[in-house]
Amino acid sequence: MKTVSSLLNPEWYERYKKISKLNIRSSIYDVTNRCNLRCKGCFFFSSNEHQAAPEENDIKRWEAFIDRETERGVNLAILIGGEPTLCLDRVEAFYKRLSTFCATNGLIKIPRDRFPDMMLGISLWGDEHDETVLRGKDTFRISSQNYEGDPHVYYLYTITPRQIGKTEGVIRKIKDVGLKVHMQLLSNDEGVSGFSWTPEQFDAIRAEMDAMLDAYPDTVISSKYYHEVITTGKMLGRSFGWNECPSVTQPLDHRSPPPKRLIEFIRWASDLHTMHRCCTSETRDCATCKDGAAHMSWVMVNKRAHVRTTRDLQNWIEVYEMFAKLYQFMPW
Ligand code: SF4
Ligand code: SF4
Repeated sequence: MKTVSSLLNPEWYERYKKISKLNIRSSIYDVTNRCNLRCKGCFFFSSNEHQAAPEENDIKRWEAFIDRETERGVNLAILIGGEPTLCLDRVEAFYKRLSTFCATNGLIKIPRDRFPDMMLGISLWGDEHDETVLRGKDTFRISSQNYEGDPHVYYLYTITPRQIGKTEGVIRKIKDVGLKVHMQLLSNDEGVSGFSWTPEQFDAIRAEMDAMLDAYPDTVISSKYYHEVITTGKMLGRSFGWNECPSVTQPLDHRSPPPKRLIEFIRWASDLHTMHRCCTSETRDCATCKDGAAHMSWVMVNKRAHVRTTRDLQNWIEVYEMFAKLYQFMPW
């Protein structure tokens, strides 16, 4: 029988041991239904999740809710919205209680004296032109001024088909302001013309993502296996989709047979009662879903399937390490 130790040399086994000590239990929280942008293709607004429930405005109720979440075993809060930085008191309530990651468009600078080491992922949808088409402004110009050189910040670069051949320019800009970058792919939830993927474009962007990782290893936080899985939607011959997705809210998950999944994962709406179906859009077709976190979690929850060959297990380790770095469970 293949075992982890039989497949790994001492160096890789050490890496494996480091991540196997991590017991990450994440959930996702809509901090607010509001945003200071309205991006075309935003999964939150395009699926009307901003109207799913009214926001809870009483900070005491947020604090009590977060305490219940920690008792439930959550040790990583992923804050999304809307734009979480519009409600810093709610963000602070999380930050004071557990490891907290905050997704933001970076237009509002969070005060570092209040949040000294909170990890931020700044959304970026391409170069100035694509950002203006899809989001109404060149957000990088503002977010990069707000966060230049910040060691607890990375760009979450959502690559669109129009970015093929242009990613290096974006990554170099990020490198030049002393920040890191992680890449994922646009799912084009609102069907914006020219922003849906073809199979050839997936091949091209996979090659480009690999080349960027090779050329900018200190800036790009990624792995080639992740590039393969997200562009092909395949892992070990299996296809990503509803039957395999690990990021479905547990109390709403009645799939049979049950797939490997994130333990106790819930995505909460901002009324602190309503649950959304999954980590992304309630209305998205799973067949076209390119959610980056769902794909990396898919790999992570399927460790046993990767205890097959040395390369498969190393791939699994690299994806796990990538996740751990992005959520500050490991240094860059
Ligand atoms: S900044 Fe984020 S939450 Fe706001 S509209 Fe754009 S994608 Fe949606
Ligand atoms: S839309 Fe994506 S993340 Fe949501 S259930 Fe479907 S595959 Fe999973």
